[in-house]
Amino acid sequence: MPSALKGKDILHVKDLKLEQISLVLETAARYENVVANGGRLNIMAGKVLATLFFESSIQTRLTFESAMLRLGGNVVSVTDVKASTSGIKGERLYDTGKMIDGYADVAVIRHALEGSAKELADGANVPVINGGDGAGQHPTQALMDLYTIQKEKGRLNNLNVTLAGDLKNGRTVHSLSWLLGKFGPRFYFVSPQELRMPPEITKALCDDGIEVVETSNLEEAAAKSDVLYMTRIQRERFTDEQEYERLKGVYVVNNEFIQNARRGITIMHPLPRLDEIAREVDAYEGSAYFRQAANGVPVRMAIIALVTGCE
Ligand code: ASP
Repeated sequence: MPSALKGKDILHVKDLKLEQISLVLETAARYENVVANGGRLNIMAGKVLATLFFESSIQTRLTFESAMLRLGGNVVSVTDVKASTSGIKGERLYDTGKMIDGYADVAVIRHALEGSAKELADGANVPVINGGDGAGQHPTQALMDLYTIQKEKGRLNNLNVTLAGDLKNGRTVHSLSWLLGKFGPRFYFVSPQELRMPPEITKALCDDGIEVVETSNLEEAAAKSDVLYMTRIQRERFTDEQEYERLKGVYVVNNEFIQNARRGITIMHPLPRLDEIAREVDAYEGSAYFRQAANGVPVRMAIIALVTGCE
């Protein structure tokens, strides 16, 4: 039977059904076991992943490339980001999509413009995965975040979750709130007034009966939360540098903060962190951000294998 994700683009978490989410999480867990036990998967031998990163990335790009190699496939990449951005040569992403069909079996794109992954997907026949489009979406990050929460907490249902930092511009929290919203959380959205979660996301969650508390008080939210998801202030999305300077460093999680937070709280971060989590917190057993980063490999393995129909 073909997988429920075969041939699908992964552009926005809203397009994912519960059964497809479960399939990704289960497949990732299986792959993680195989890799951890020194096993090899060769299900994508002869297949090619194209990575088109027009905006900088270390973690997402490396995990996608590592994932493809661990599935036995190969990778082709755009490496000269400046020379190859569509703006410079006037090339449209739609046309790039048409060309990609001749070069690869699946593609992942990151771009500063919201909607860019959709434009590539409109042109391409092969599945296109959104690796982050501006302040829009980052669906594969959200899937690895869910995977991490399930591993760390043993469940996804009925958790108190704080999302904190730059909720306006952070695509990871946009995706994660939609996705986690399917599991009946209570959310605390913590940010300065200027960086609140886009109202359409908050409204959609509330309309679905999810309890959302919006506040700027991180201490109070953390005292009630099972999971704290920190984000960096997204400097590259600011048009006013002074405003960035004023808002950066607004929240800092350190050991003293952890002592006042809910016992056993799990600390997550999509990385890179700036100074919103002090390095001393790395030693706290609930600090899950590097485990979260490592989880990107099996989760992205699952996504690549499922959308190409190789699983
Ligand atoms: N790596 C994440 C992203 O690409 C988080 C960040 O950059 O702050 O959105």
